[in-house]
Amino acid sequence: MKILLSHGDGGLLTHRLVADVFRNAFQDKALDAQQDAALLSASAGQLALTTDSFVISPLRFPGGDIGKLAVAGTVNDLAVSGATPAYLTVGFILEEGLEVELLRSVVDSLAQAAREAGVRIVAGDTKVVEKGKCDGMYINTTGAGFLKEPDRLGYAKIKPGDSVLINGGIAEHAVAVLGERAGISFDPPLISDCQPLNKLIATLLAQFQTIRFMRDPTRGGVATTLKEIAMSAGLRIVLEEDAIPIQPTVKGALELMGMDPLYMANEGKVLIIVSDQEAAGVLDCIRSFPGFELAAQIGKVEPGAGEVWLKTGLGGTRDLDMMTGAPLPRIC
Ligand code: MG
Repeated sequence: MKILLSHGDGGLLTHRLVADVFRNAFQDKALDAQQDAALLSASAGQLALTTDSFVISPLRFPGGDIGKLAVAGTVNDLAVSGATPAYLTVGFILEEGLEVELLRSVVDSLAQAAREAGVRIVAGDTKVVEKGKCDGMYINTTGAGFLKEPDRLGYAKIKPGDSVLINGGIAEHAVAVLGERAGISFDPPLISDCQPLNKLIATLLAQFQTIRFMRDPTRGGVATTLKEIAMSAGLRIVLEEDAIPIQPTVKGALELMGMDPLYMANEGKVLIIVSDQEAAGVLDCIRSFPGFELAAQIGKVEPGAGEVWLKTGLGGTRDLDMMTGAPLPRIC
């Protein structure tokens, strides 16, 4: 069965699609209530709210699909802000002619990722556009979470002498998607790191008092994200190239394509800035989570004015700037 324009007209077919595909998979009393707005309980304190749109091509890639990606991207933006993710809304824009089976598999994967992350999907929307007007499907998500300790993290908390950590190898999402697009299979296979990180981050925030700042290096990669942090903090970040974790297959594939892994997207990575005193403890804790054995300290914060310097393996220093242009459109 394929998606028809009338699946988006608000009539009988829309009603059936919502009940059969979406409400069935998401299983939430707020959706089952079928009201115009979800009525939710909220805790006192600070609310974190974020929104994101997903236009990735192809819709499925090694290690995930657009559904899992939508949950990971939104949950991670809440988690790195110090919030406990609670609620998601999901809007689907579907192209006429899309296979309902493909939609169902994306929705199931989105539902599973949300269950694993412990977030509820409480509101949604579906629209259908004519064939050729969107590439299969786009998803928009909004996420809400609550902060246990308001204002605990922030640019202003970062100090010279702090350590910069990452929870694993870089550029894995970009390479997995590129390989899928090009129809190349790698040995060992290159799997996207796409995953929600809220459990890892909650554990770290509970155990370590001197975490200053966190951000997920998605589009633009580690270099662009650190440049934004250095500029906003008014400090210099100095990276050790040899310390930056990257799987050999990922490195090899990007070298062949002439691409710099520091500017490639990640969807399951977090950059953590923490006091030097607690850096080793944070690293041990991250490595105790399966899949994060490559976690490493990659650099230090120094007095400065927004620079990011990369000390290369050959003893030189490269000044890293933000990514310019779009070498990889539709990566997320
Ligand atoms: Mg982010």
